[in-house]
Amino acid sequence: MATNIQEEERSLNFIEEIVEEDLRAGKYASILTRFPPEPNGYLHIGHAKSIALNFGLAQKYGGKTNLRFDDTNPVTEDTEYVDSIKEDIKWLGFEWAHELYASDYFEQLYEFAIILINKGLAYVDDSTSEQIAAQKGTPTEPGQESPFRNRSADENLQLFADMRAGKYKEGEKVLRAKVDMASPNMLMRDPIIYRIKHAHHHRTGDEWCIYPLYDFAHGQSDSIEGITHSICTLEFISHRPLYDWFIEKLEIFPSKQYEFARLNITYMVMSKRKFLQLVNEKFVSDWDDPRMPTISGMRRRGFTPGSIKNFAERIGVQKRDTLIDMSLLEFCIREDLNKKALRRMVVFDPLKIVITNYNGTELLKSEDNPEDENTSVRDVPFSRELYIEREDFMEHPPKKYFRLAPGQKVRLKSAYIIQCDEAIKDNKGNITELRCSYIPESKSGSDTSGIKVQGTLHWVSVAHAITVELRLYDRLFKVEDPSNEEGDFKDYINPDSLQVIQAAYAEPALRKAKFDERYQFLRKGYFCLDKDGSEEKMVFNRTVTLKDTWAKEKKKD
Ligand code: ATP
Ligand code: MG
Repeated sequence: MATNIQEEERSLNFIEEIVEEDLRAGKYASILTRFPPEPNGYLHIGHAKSIALNFGLAQKYGGKTNLRFDDTNPVTEDTEYVDSIKEDIKWLGFEWAHELYASDYFEQLYEFAIILINKGLAYVDDSTSEQIAAQKGTPTEPGQESPFRNRSADENLQLFADMRAGKYKEGEKVLRAKVDMASPNMLMRDPIIYRIKHAHHHRTGDEWCIYPLYDFAHGQSDSIEGITHSICTLEFISHRPLYDWFIEKLEIFPSKQYEFARLNITYMVMSKRKFLQLVNEKFVSDWDDPRMPTISGMRRRGFTPGSIKNFAERIGVQKRDTLIDMSLLEFCIREDLNKKALRRMVVFDPLKIVITNYNGTELLKSEDNPEDENTSVRDVPFSRELYIEREDFMEHPPKKYFRLAPGQKVRLKSAYIIQCDEAIKDNKGNITELRCSYIPESKSGSDTSGIKVQGTLHWVSVAHAITVELRLYDRLFKVEDPSNEEGDFKDYINPDSLQVIQAAYAEPALRKAKFDERYQFLRKGYFCLDKDGSEEKMVFNRTVTLKDTWAKEKKKD
């Protein structure tokens, strides 16, 4: 028992350590975290890490998590994204305490700005953005004070009210916090906290024409909600002094910001802005293209919520940026699907075989999932004419070839041992058909033949097969870190990331395939049903191959 507790303590990540310390010290009665997406795109696996961290902390320590849309930028945001974000979080299996919007706080944020103005800590600046940039200085030289920096509070109040009333054009005026133009932290050099934007907002409509900037909105929203641990990614470290400065000067609830490393995955990019380019420039079909690491793409590809959460758990929480190997994600989904997937037989590239000593049809029994001790069993029709995989036959095999070859025997999965007697060719020399014979005593489950064979092949009965379309996906990029290569990341797209097999032959049990079921096509990979199909022509996505073939490919190079 004691060792268990010790082990658990050792495996705490640094944020859990902070939370435990805060709770021990009685700083908070319970914790409140938030997940704060900007509704300007679909969520991706990087967000899933942040979701798992924020919701996971609250679950572990009996706290709660808010979902807060960080919708302070009217131009790029849309309700379509709000809906998809909610759907994705629910699908991952998390429940938020409150659904909130930074835009709900616009009035309160405006009041906060007035408090700063009254305290002489904010001013309206008429300088152009170029002038403001030029005044900023450099990290080694202090900036210059704006000529508008010492306006009186009354003048600032009037001008700020006029900004809100729509008297000015975009860029004509901004509100800046009066912090320190000589600070070594450039973000502290009188940051802009409000700008004019005559834009329609997806929730507040035309009510506002001034919008708070991220730094002014985010921390104050945290504080309004009473967020105890505001977790964000490393690029916000330099924003933390400003986050604390606003809270201190406004004398509001002291939320605290903590930073962890963004998730990056090999052979992938991880940014909504880049995904938008892939969608708009038609490199992928949409945000939910199964090659995309968006939650919706991964869901469509056949990933399960459990595999994504397991992945997030395994990679842990780091303080330094890392590039996680895609193979780990694939490992997590294989592990999950191996337990869940129903086994089915599908022939991708058919070669017809005729069992010359067999007539009629029979229904053989096959286990849906041998990994499950309570597995169900399905019927698989067997008949005289079957398809096997073309690659499972070789006319002149090397030694130790355990698949089919003239004179050689194999077992057909859940059926009989067969022997190839003759390969039939067309006049060009292509093999069109195999003549085989079966051994009646070798039936799976009641084999009395005494014959041992090494190879087992999947197969389908020609007369009973259904035709399905298969979509085989590979990595979307050819290089490990496309964002860090020379030129544009899109130059590194893998041209073979999608291979379509228009007509594969599947056993008839697949006719009843369901969207929420997962399948292992024997010897071929894990698959799921895709929404593009119809009853006449079902479409299946390959979630992942059975083994890590990419590692092997790389060794060959
Ligand atoms: P992107 O660059 O893809 O647009 P973002 O950080 O701008 O990402 P937001 O919607 O602002 O996206 O992010 C919501 C939350 O998810 C933030 O707390 C952010 O830090 C976190 N997040 C975003 N990307 C990642 C990532 N790759 N790994 C971990 N957390 C992430
Ligand atoms: Mg963002």
